[in-house]
Amino acid sequence: MIKGKKLRYERLIFVIAVFLLFSFGISRILGSGDPYKALKEVSNQTKLAGEQKEQFNEENEEQLRFLHYPQFESESMNTKINEYIKKLPQENGITFLDYESNSLNDRYVSVKFHYQLLDKEQKPLKEDYQYISFDLEANREIRLQDIFRGNYVDLISEEFQKQANKKITAPDKAVISLDEEAVHVHCDNASVKLKYSDYQKYIKLAGKGTNKKPLEVKRKLKIDPKKPMIALTFDDGPSPYTDEVMKVFEEHQANASFFMLGQNIQNYPDTVKHMVENGFEICNHSWDHKSIESDDRQHIRKEVFDTQDVLYELTGHEAVYVRPPYGAWNDTTKQVLNQNGLQVALWNVDSEDWKNRDKQITLERAKAGEFDGAMILFHDLYPTTLEAVKELVPYLQSKGYQLVTVSELFKYKSEKTGL
Ligand SMILES: [Zn+2]
Repeated sequence: MIKGKKLRYERLIFVIAVFLLFSFGISRILGSGDPYKALKEVSNQTKLAGEQKEQFNEENEEQLRFLHYPQFESESMNTKINEYIKKLPQENGITFLDYESNSLNDRYVSVKFHYQLLDKEQKPLKEDYQYISFDLEANREIRLQDIFRGNYVDLISEEFQKQANKKITAPDKAVISLDEEAVHVHCDNASVKLKYSDYQKYIKLAGKGTNKKPLEVKRKLKIDPKKPMIALTFDDGPSPYTDEVMKVFEEHQANASFFMLGQNIQNYPDTVKHMVENGFEICNHSWDHKSIESDDRQHIRKEVFDTQDVLYELTGHEAVYVRPPYGAWNDTTKQVLNQNGLQVALWNVDSEDWKNRDKQITLERAKAGEFDGAMILFHDLYPTTLEAVKELVPYLQSKGYQLVTVSELFKYKSEKTGL
């Protein structure tokens, strides 16, 4: 009896063993036993742009890799993605990369990478996110200033404080991703969301913000970077004389820059449009000539960005250079300007036209100050200045100077200006 019972147990164990082996074999054949299945077959629900690619490496058991990433028609975008993948750390464990992708207006694409290092049980040891956004039309990565305008960096800092309770140290280093509804800004491992509909004033992305079509610049002058240059600059306008001042430059195929007051721009919309269309440089000289040498950031912003707003509404263009009234500025002024992509531009020769109100003295002072890299200060408010400019422009050209904008002078003669 005892012997027979034992035999029955052995038979039962045998049957169970055969059954287990058989079902394990079946499942192996069907593939459901692949321990890395979940790392290989990722969801494509959130992959809305680009062609899905995968790269698996199971040969080195210490360093398994399961990477998912998109490729696009743009080679430059693919290079960016491939560079990122190449830089992923080579560490023991399982490297797993997945992504989400979006496109907007058939022009912008955004990819959000999710990198994880997993242990043998596929539990995460490390993770990181990376964003790459690309403008397929311009064929380059999208920068903050491609999406935002005005005092956007201050806005972004405030949003991080509000939405993520985080004080970010370098808002100008933030990266973005885009979808149909909003732009997402990522910085210091935190993200904030800015819906286009809530921030119309700050969005200059085609079709998503106030959507101002920029005026086309029709007059473009050639410059020889090797030849001497001077920038003639006019402050405090526009005024009833500005059109005539521009005419002098147009007649001589020369250029100039106008540092305007926001409150005057409103009164001369056609003058300012003409300026932009004819390639003159529009620059910012505050709203109403109040000093911006101040620690009151709100005051600086208001003076500078109200003027930017009126320029943008009128022309679809904005100033890059700001000349603080009285040439007075401090570290706070510089910080507010630079963080928002603006630069201070002073002068190195002063015609004192506002003081002398005399054509001959204005002309002599300007001539006495000529050099390769000179930036001469005038005011397009006086008939005497207009008369001086009529003689000065052909005179400087006859001496071999090219009359260029502030941007051009800084681009080609930055060291010579001494500014
Ligand atoms: Zn001024």
